[in-house]
Amino acid sequence: MSHSIAVFPGSFDPLTIGHVSIVQRALPLFSKVVVGMGVNTTKKSMFAPEQRLAWIKGVFANEPRIEVVSFEGLTVDLCKRLNAQFILRGLRNGTDHDYERTIALMNRQLAGIETVFLPAEAHHAHISSTIVRELIANKADVAALVPMDISRTL
Ligand code: ADP
Repeated sequence: MSHSIAVFPGSFDPLTIGHVSIVQRALPLFSKVVVGMGVNTTKKSMFAPEQRLAWIKGVFANEPRIEVVSFEGLTVDLCKRLNAQFILRGLRNGTDHDYERTIALMNRQLAGIETVFLPAEAHHAHISSTIVRELIANKADVAALVPMDISRTL
């Protein structure tokens, strides 16, 4: 497709090296990848949306084909606003797959938007923002799990 745009939605609370890998591996597949940081008003995050957004923008600052936005509401509505034809998601394991497949089929029915899945790299399959938050809460070192810019500011 001549101008294909993919939205990579997530909470990124915080961004991990697993997320970064998915975005970088998706770059050859699309003209543009938009990282959409979801602001969920009912779900409490560890890091403020402004902080999460600043981290993501900093990490991808050198790549003009990556855009970073925050959004509220449905991912398909963000896709429509941006004229994005695809949603990008990473799959770590069978649990991710079962869950993601349902959402992907729903998004396709709702808006005709296809989801493109990339398998997590084997050495990233155990990394989740949930576990990183748990480690941070217990003062463990997460330098190997998040981009350097983020671990430095923690
Ligand atoms: P959400 O709250 O929507 O699940 P996350 O920020 O946890 O958002 O994850 C966003 C996307 O990144 C999801 O598609 C998720 O499967 C993927 N992802 C998360 N961690 C990894 C990882 N370690 N390797 C590859 N993909 C990942």
